[in-house]
Amino acid sequence: MSIRKIRILGDPVLRVPAGEVEVFDDDLVQLAEDMLETMYRSQGVGLAAPQIGISTRVLVIDVGESDEDDVGPIALVNPQVVEFSRTTDRVAEGCLSIPGMEEVVERPDAVTVTGFTPEGEPVTYELSGLISRVMQHEIDHLDGVLFIDRLSPLKRRILLKKWRKSQAEEVDS
Ligand code: ZN
Repeated sequence: MSIRKIRILGDPVLRVPAGEVEVFDDDLVQLAEDMLETMYRSQGVGLAAPQIGISTRVLVIDVGESDEDDVGPIALVNPQVVEFSRTTDRVAEGCLSIPGMEEVVERPDAVTVTGFTPEGEPVTYELSGLISRVMQHEIDHLDGVLFIDRLSPLKRRILLKKWRKSQAEEVDS
């Protein structure tokens, strides 16, 4: 296994819709393992392949202690949401590609998702709570969408201003 470099806001790969996986092979299994390792190292709860510069529809999730139904860790290929709940909730989210920034995002509070394991087995997940939110966040990444896109224009502007300031400070120090 190896740790991959996480791409940061501003990297064009984060904005490109990722392509479907067509070949299920050892490289794909390795990619999923590397993604989990990279996610754990960064203390994240989810990671999508574009975040390590690979524009393909693979994501990993492990919400640890918050995983009440003991679903994870999940490695999912070509995920598709087949159902969103009508009810929503509002919870603060962050992103490994926008480190240090957090904001409340409204999303459906449950989803049903289908896809494949890296070995090519079809799977269905019925998720609610935090793990459902992380799943939606990671699927957004596969479509080139970031959580900041789901904020009001004002909140988004404020967050981006803070982000630019934090990045400038990082360069200075
Ligand atoms: Zn993210």
